[in-house]
Amino acid sequence: MKPANTLMSGLGTTVFEVMSALAREHQSVNLGQGFPDDRGPQAVRQAAADFLMTGHNQYPPMMGLPELRQAVAEHARRFQGLDIDWQAEVLVTSGATEALADCLFGLIEPGDEVVLIEPLYDSYLPIVRRAGGIPRLVRLEPPTWRLPREELAAAFGPRTKLILFNTPMNPCSKVFDEEELAFIAGLCREHDVFAVCDEVYEHIIFDDRRHLSIMALPGMRERSIRIGSAGKSFSLTGWKVGYVTAAPDLMKPIARTHQFMTFTTPPNLQWGAATGLRLDDGYFSTLATDMQRKRDRLAGALSTIGFDVLPTHGTYFVTTDFRPLGFNGTDEEFCHHMTVKAGVTAVPVSAFYDDAGKAPRNFVRFCFCKNDETLDEAINRLRDKLK
Ligand code: PMP
Ligand code: GLN
Repeated sequence: MKPANTLMSGLGTTVFEVMSALAREHQSVNLGQGFPDDRGPQAVRQAAADFLMTGHNQYPPMMGLPELRQAVAEHARRFQGLDIDWQAEVLVTSGATEALADCLFGLIEPGDEVVLIEPLYDSYLPIVRRAGGIPRLVRLEPPTWRLPREELAAAFGPRTKLILFNTPMNPCSKVFDEEELAFIAGLCREHDVFAVCDEVYEHIIFDDRRHLSIMALPGMRERSIRIGSAGKSFSLTGWKVGYVTAAPDLMKPIARTHQFMTFTTPPNLQWGAATGLRLDDGYFSTLATDMQRKRDRLAGALSTIGFDVLPTHGTYFVTTDFRPLGFNGTDEEFCHHMTVKAGVTAVPVSAFYDDAGKAPRNFVRFCFCKNDETLDEAINRLRDKLK
C-alpha cells in the first residue's frame, strides 16, 4: 500500500486525549485537559435547546447565522472598541480549532515563514507545517515568560507571512501587555506580516487585567485575524463554536477554506452562542472573578504541598515546578506517577514544545476550572500521597 501523508502519519495522539484516557483508567481526578465542571449559563443552553426543538435545523448560511455574526461584531465593539462589519468580516467555525486551520490553510503559501511563540498550543505546528509553512519558533522562558524582543525581531524577515500567537496564553497563563503587543504590531507593520491572534481566553483574565486585542492597535485593523471560542467564554467546550474576525480581503481565503473544511456549524449552537455574546457585562466579569477564585484555591494549595507555583494571569491553567517535591524524572514521568500514586492527573508542559527533548522537563500544568469539591478532592489526594 502507498504511504499516507508522512507528516500526519508521524503525529502522536494529542496530550489532552492521552492524559484524559490515563485519568479514566486510574479513576484519577482529571486536572489535565481543560474543560469546566460548570454547566454553562442557563440562558445560553436554553436558547440552544429551544432552537433545536423549534428552529430551522438545516444548513445555516456558510458564513454563520446572521444573529451570531452580528453578536460577534457587537461584542468586539463592547469589549475592544472595534468597528466590525458583521457581513464581510465575521465567520463562524466549528470551534477555534477549525478557525485556526482555516486561517493557516487560507493564508500560508508553501515556503512562507511563520513566527510562533513557544510554549504553544498543540494544534498550531502540525497545521502550519501541513500548510507548507516554515515555523520560526521564539521561546519564552519560565518563570516570567517575558517576550524576548531581540529574538522575536530576528525571527521576522522578508519571507515571514504571519505570526500566530495566543493571549491569554495556554499553557503558561501569560497575558501579553500593551507594550508587548505594540512591539509585535510594530514588527508586523515593518515586515508586512499578518497577526493571527488566538484569543479564546479573552474573558478568563485575572487581577484587574484587561484583554487587549492586537487588532485594536494602530495600523493592525487590516492585518490582524482575531479568533474566539464560545467553548471558553460560556464554559461549553463540547459545543465547538468558534468565530473569526478579519478584514474582508483576509476573510475571503479564510472563508473559502472553511467552506470545504466543515462548511457550517450546528445552527442551534450558533443561536446559543449569540445569546451568550449578548449577556450583560456582569456575566463576563463574574466568569473572570469565579475563575480567579478557583485559581487561588488550587494555586495556594499546590504551593503549600510544595510545588513551586508560577504566576497565572489568565486561562484555566496553573503551571507548577515539581522539582521542590524531590522528584527527579521528567514531566511526563511525574504526570504518570501522580496519576497512579495520588489519583490526580495533570499535563506535562513539554508537550507544548516542538521538540519535547529540548523543552524544560520540570513543569506540569493543572486545570482549575472545576467546582470546589473536585479541586479539594485533588488537593487532599496530593497532600496525602505526595508529601
Ligand atoms: N486555542 C487554545 C489556546 C485553546 O486552549 C483551545 C482549546 N482549549 C483552542 C484553541 C480550541 O478551542 P475550541 O475548543 O473552540 O476548538
Ligand atoms: N484546550 C484544552 C486544553 O488545553 C484542550 C482541548 C482539546 O482537548 N483539544 O486543555
